[in-house]
Amino acid sequence: MQTLSVLLVEDEPGDAELIRYSLKFSGGQHTVEWVQSLGELRAQLDTAKAPFDVILLDLNLPDASGLETVSRCKAMAPDTPVVVLTGHDDMDFSLKTLEAGAQDYLIKNRLEADALLRAMRYAMERHQLEHRLQQSEELMMAAIEGGDLGVWEWNLKTNACHNSERVLKTCGFSTEDGDLPVSADEWMQRIHPDDMAAFNKALKQHLRGETKRYQNEFRFRHKQGHWIWLFASGHVVSWDREGHPERMVGIQQEITERKAMEQQLRDLAMHDPLTGLLNRRSFMNAMDREYGRVRRHKGYQAGVLMLDIDRFKHVNDTYGHAVGDDILKAFAHVIADHLRENDVFGRLGGEEFAILLPDTDLDGSGYVAEKVRTAIEAMRVEGAGQTIAITTSVGVDRLLAEDERPDGALARADAALYHAKQNGRNRVSHYDKDVKAATGTSTP
Ligand code: GH3
Ligand code: MG
Ligand code: MG
Repeated sequence: MQTLSVLLVEDEPGDAELIRYSLKFSGGQHTVEWVQSLGELRAQLDTAKAPFDVILLDLNLPDASGLETVSRCKAMAPDTPVVVLTGHDDMDFSLKTLEAGAQDYLIKNRLEADALLRAMRYAMERHQLEHRLQQSEELMMAAIEGGDLGVWEWNLKTNACHNSERVLKTCGFSTEDGDLPVSADEWMQRIHPDDMAAFNKALKQHLRGETKRYQNEFRFRHKQGHWIWLFASGHVVSWDREGHPERMVGIQQEITERKAMEQQLRDLAMHDPLTGLLNRRSFMNAMDREYGRVRRHKGYQAGVLMLDIDRFKHVNDTYGHAVGDDILKAFAHVIADHLRENDVFGRLGGEEFAILLPDTDLDGSGYVAEKVRTAIEAMRVEGAGQTIAITTSVGVDRLLAEDERPDGALARADAALYHAKQNGRNRVSHYDKDVKAATGTSTP
């Protein structure tokens, strides 16, 4: 066990001796410094080489008495736990010594060795806890004040909401506002309809005691009408006699910027960086969704086009890779201009592209394919000091409910594309009309 360094402040030599005697038989290792007044305590603290573990403090000293002794001692040694030695057998008074800053108290005429030791150990532990609590409260306050954190409180019985200035400010309100929402319902009405279900779910789960903490992210209508993203977290702090939640408190933070960054990251992951088109993975996701629609709704049709730039290797070889890249960008841009809002356009790799045409039959798909082909034929790109023209071949087919997977349609459109390449390039081929007729294969 570690040696305790004890500083005893006691003006009565008899009492001091008694305490030293008790300590000796308490079983622990100690060193005891003895002073007889606050003045001597001051001098002792100033000259001591190491801080004391604990101060044993008599309340009636030549230069101080009563509770004032505690507060002055604490002021001199704020980081040292204090155990008060009192002659009073008075509970109220003893408790007041704790309020004045002491960690524990002992009644002198009941002083026993183990009680003294226990009190000192307990005082040290308690002091450490108080210190840690204060630190965490300071951290919390710093987070609240500096970190844009707002604090809210919600009385579930009356439905009244109290929000800190920061919460109000984030949402565009101030305490002086005539139209300041006051009830929880008024606040919740401002949550985005699409986020309401998740909000209610998180709240209910917490109120039923299924989660330790309520936590949620949702869009909220700012006073000026635009949407902001909020993160809210909180928990029930009191329950009524029947055990129903009565009051919740929590924090709130605006996360609009973080959400925008998350969206940017998602966009990056979904798109091809060169052309900005959907990459293969997200194009295939769109195919999956459309395939589901084709299977569910009889008669619903969706077209698929595969495109590949003609003799692109030659373009690269002639004008350089950088010009090739510019042409790929222009190609994507021109085609996107000729598509409808809900058509899906993706770069599957290299100079291979695909277009998914929702709610479009084979005739419609063939029409789009031809429109796109002529647009590319007409396109001119300036590069390497020249005006460059390219062409593209296009293969056409459609999603079929009978397919096992949505890739079936892509494979058939690719076969049609190959047919277009074989038959002179810069043309549109249809799986049904051209490939099937040539190979004798049939659509399931
Ligand atoms: P075909 O008419 O048969 O399609 O001939 P092609 O030359 O286009 O066919 P091939 O598939 O042999 O060549 C594709 C070329 O596309 C080869 C490659 O250098 C080029 N390519 C692929 N990705 C990129 C890219 O990101 N940037 C550039 N500049 N070129 C690319
Ligand atoms: Mg090519
Ligand atoms: Mg190719």
